[in-house]
Amino acid sequence: MKYILAIDQGTTSSRAILFDNTGKPVQIAQREVTCLFPHSGWVEADALAIWVSVMDVINEVLIKANLTIDDVATIGLTNQRETTVVWSKKTGMPVYNAIVWQSRQSADICDNFAKEKETIHQKTGLIINPYFSASKVRFILDHLENGQERAESGELLFGTIDSWIIYKLTSGKVHATDVTNASRTLLFNINDMKWDEELCKMFNIPMSMLPTVRPSAYDYGQATFLKSDVHITGVLGDQQAALFGQTCFESGESKNTYGTGCFLLVNTGDKPVFSNKGLLTTVAWQIGNKVTYALEGSVFIGGAIVQWIRDEMQLIENAADSEKIAQMSHRSRVYIVPAFTGLGTPYWDDDARGAVFGLTRGTNRSQFVRACLEAIAYQCKDVMEVMQKDAAQNISVLKVDGGATKNKYLMQFQSDILHTTIKLPKCLETTALGAAYMAGLQCGYYPNLESIKKIHEYQAIYEPQMSKKEIKELYKGWKTAIKATRMFK
Ligand code: ADP
Repeated sequence: MKYILAIDQGTTSSRAILFDNTGKPVQIAQREVTCLFPHSGWVEADALAIWVSVMDVINEVLIKANLTIDDVATIGLTNQRETTVVWSKKTGMPVYNAIVWQSRQSADICDNFAKEKETIHQKTGLIINPYFSASKVRFILDHLENGQERAESGELLFGTIDSWIIYKLTSGKVHATDVTNASRTLLFNINDMKWDEELCKMFNIPMSMLPTVRPSAYDYGQATFLKSDVHITGVLGDQQAALFGQTCFESGESKNTYGTGCFLLVNTGDKPVFSNKGLLTTVAWQIGNKVTYALEGSVFIGGAIVQWIRDEMQLIENAADSEKIAQMSHRSRVYIVPAFTGLGTPYWDDDARGAVFGLTRGTNRSQFVRACLEAIAYQCKDVMEVMQKDAAQNISVLKVDGGATKNKYLMQFQSDILHTTIKLPKCLETTALGAAYMAGLQCGYYPNLESIKKIHEYQAIYEPQMSKKEIKELYKGWKTAIKATRMFK
């Protein structure tokens, strides 16, 4: 049997996972990636170190599995999105650190385009924000000696991390990106699925720097650097890969990742749906000529609230304790709004700060911890509510992954408060799995989407148990807490 090698290049680590033909991970290797913080609000990484870490994990995973690259049927690649690399075509070396998605260093550049907000949204589905790649490329060209000249002369290439890894794995032969990564750059028109000349002009980015855009399932070329004839046949940004790895193939199917923050995506089918409530419209994937779109919303403080009660408040010793401590009491009327860095979708209130409501003389640690877990679920409900409205669809099943899905109390409360079935897959490495599924689909390892659905297994299913009346009452309390939080400024 041959295996699929999935490479998952994330913000804090690079991972390689070997999947067998049942979609089971058989071996994994991981290396930390160091983030650099040269100034307050700036986040960079050494692009070469990222490439080295990818090579390290590929070698390690094969060694640990006692296999060689010849045992690999194909390669799938998924990556942190938006992170920007510019390198020299001549030397193959980066000319600047990779600017990581979180970095705010190009905020001033974005301020220049406030007036173009609506055009940008209609073309890209995104908002003007330093988060996306365009202003980061601009920043690099502005801070490089003769940057603009070198770019215009065709000497420099731009790519998100997928492009960078593809370029390196193909020994510099292929400069390409997939549609999902392209759709996070602010330079890609998601309506006609092409780089947008007007946007490139706006940011003064020569189009000769841009990678060729390919479908997510596509033969990107031979990974000659590995001295083998294995090809890269599936590429997707991390959140889209998770949506695919969760087998959300149909319109209306959604997933939520409960990590430090939460990332919700819903498949909206073959047409982009534009939101006026702050959800992003993004390309979910392209297979053949068929493009699938998604709506995306995020919660800033998800599992991070559990870290907060552990590290700052010292109410629990480890994250797992939160589950049992929360269940040591009955539910109280305590609400905690973790607006530590403002509120995201659908409030978009940068100035809001966290608040606690409903304390009594009897409020105890358990109730406080419980309210913190519930706050994660309420915030996700806020996003789901606007998603259902914007997508004009009732979302009846939510597939979940991420570290905080280990918390059974949180998952049951989430199912209750959403009045939605929650499905937790057996393999929680859904991001890598999505890349593996996509690559396998392209190379014929999996004949079709149906065959993937068949092998996809779940470890837990949560059904809603709360009455609609109780949901209404509890959620009303949350909405009041949000309102009151936003008044305190
Ligand atoms: P990321 O990819 O953002 O680093 P992970 O998916 O690894 O996140 O999940 C880590 C997050 O999950 C942390 O914020 C942690 O507090 C939270 N977490 C881990 N275990 C639990 C648990 N049992 N209950 C609640 N939260 C948890």
